[in-house]
Amino acid sequence: TIGMIVIDFDGDIAAGTSTNGLRHKIPGRVGDSPVPGSGAYADNKVGAACATGDGDIFMRFLPSFLAVEEMRRGASPKQAAEVAIGRITEHYPDTMGAVIAANKLGDYGAACSGMKNFTYCVANSDIGGPNLVTIDCV
Ligand code: ASP
Repeated sequence: TIGMIVIDFDGDIAAGTSTNGLRHKIPGRVGDSPVPGSGAYADNKVGAACATGDGDIFMRFLPSFLAVEEMRRGASPKQAAEVAIGRITEHYPDTMGAVIAANKLGDYGAACSGMKNFTYCVANSDIGGPNLVTIDCV
């Protein structure tokens, strides 16, 4: 999956995904990436999030929606991503995947599971970019 969050100069926020889906998928499988709230979710008042992983598991938990709602409740993007991943690993401890999140201020963070680490890319007017950020997974 490629998941992307963009905040423009007017503060408008968008999120989107692109994916190959899974190898050997059955015809007609949709997966998580195109499902709003699962693969991606954005709310101009709050921020946005994207998720990737085993779509047949991830889509049951709407991790992108959950991360945005956590930010609405005051969580940092990293905390919000951790809550979203934690909700899934509570039920599927070995599942592999990641959530990225950014709030309307441009703060960002991510969380991941089932891998040693996860790398995502950031570009903004403060740090330029693209810059690679690698985090350790839970
Ligand atoms: N999340 C995708 C799916 O399950 C797989 C991927 O693109 O990594 O369809």
